[in-house]
Amino acid sequence: MALKIDHDACTLCEDCIPSCPFASLEIQSGKLIVLESCTLCGACVPVCPVNALEVEEIERSVAINPDEWRGIWVITEQRNGLIQSCSAELLGAARGLATKLDVPVTAVLIGGNVSEPGTLLGAGADEVLYVKNEALSHFGVEPYSKVIADLINKRKPEIVLGAATFIGRSLLSRIAVKVHAGLTADCTGLDIDTEKRLLQQTRPAFGGNIMATIICPEHRPQMATVRPKVMKPLSEPYNSSGAVTELSVDSTDNRVKFLEFVADDTSQINISEADIIVTGGRGLADPKNFSLIQELAEVLGGAVGASRSAVDAGWINYSHQVGQTGRTVSPKIYIALGVSGAIQHLVGMQSSDYIIAVNKDPNAPIFKVADVGIVGDLFEVVPKLVSEIKKRKGS
Ligand code: FAD
Repeated sequence: MALKIDHDACTLCEDCIPSCPFASLEIQSGKLIVLESCTLCGACVPVCPVNALEVEEIERSVAINPDEWRGIWVITEQRNGLIQSCSAELLGAARGLATKLDVPVTAVLIGGNVSEPGTLLGAGADEVLYVKNEALSHFGVEPYSKVIADLINKRKPEIVLGAATFIGRSLLSRIAVKVHAGLTADCTGLDIDTEKRLLQQTRPAFGGNIMATIICPEHRPQMATVRPKVMKPLSEPYNSSGAVTELSVDSTDNRVKFLEFVADDTSQINISEADIIVTGGRGLADPKNFSLIQELAEVLGGAVGASRSAVDAGWINYSHQVGQTGRTVSPKIYIALGVSGAIQHLVGMQSSDYIIAVNKDPNAPIFKVADVGIVGDLFEVVPKLVSEIKKRKGS
């Protein structure tokens, strides 16, 4: 697709310019032009009073030959030079897919001075392409997407995976536009149709009421983002015979200037990383009752989670929300208190190792995924639990 401007009709009224969410329209040398940052969202089209704008479908002049595209790429993430855990999870998933397709796994890494890029080989990569440049130390969607799109066009991987983090979500969608591919965002499952070499990308759809499996038969690469903590890293280090190859880039142009990194300190423990999570739902009835959840989390050394109802009610900050529109978590122990277990909550926590639920309603759906279910009043159960744990800990 492309944004087409009928310059004969365009009166340079500039009405379209503020309508663009990405500031991709400009008047240059007396002419309206479209910048590379255009996402083809089409927001400008109905604004034009003389119908001079059109999002035009472009037929590929050369049909994709899938046989020219081989291998699986994982777009890894680093922050402040440290490789993030989502990269190992993706490499673990990619290895399983690569074995089915009999292709190598390539980890793509961009950064200034990343410590130990070779760990990506042990995490499952057959090779690491490390684009090393001081100007790319911090994530910038513009230069990162350009660098990776250029590499994809040159080396032609059949599958490109990224994490559904804030970085991955913005980066892979930009890359997909640049390489004219589709993107299945926020997948919770990946598999391969080995006969057709198609990536089967599963994700919740229609508000989480169904799980949709999406394929991309017409285009390459097949691109997906995967929610952190859904896939498991390899349990044993991968015996890779590959190496880290450093690559240089021609341009690192970026209209965004990095000033400083400000950490979100609204939560003492990041629920995405916690081994134990104690979650409160609407069954708490009042925001002050979150102190019960906090107390149980504290004695267990865990983090506090919340259902969306609790967050929407303003009882607790959004950074604690577990579920489809919150965080996906996969702790060793997940304790759900006064949470009904709506599908949108379950998709964010059901891969936890051990689930304990307390609910007054014996038919609450949370019990379908719970390893231990206590039918009872959380206001009676939780204080007893806290007191018993304290007794056993001798505190
Ligand atoms: P309720 O469904 O009201 O359940 C409260 C439970 O507490 C009941 O089962 C009740 O029996 C029990 N209870 C009451 N009192 C007690 C007591 N004293 N002791 C023990 N048990 C008690 N939800 C999420 O959580 N995360 C998401 O990311 C999310 N995303 C969504 C996205 C979309 C597009 C949509 C449409 C919805 C989303 N939801 C999400 C909302 C979801 O559908 C549910 O509405 C929500 O999860 C319900 O929260 P809850 O279980 O706390 O409340």
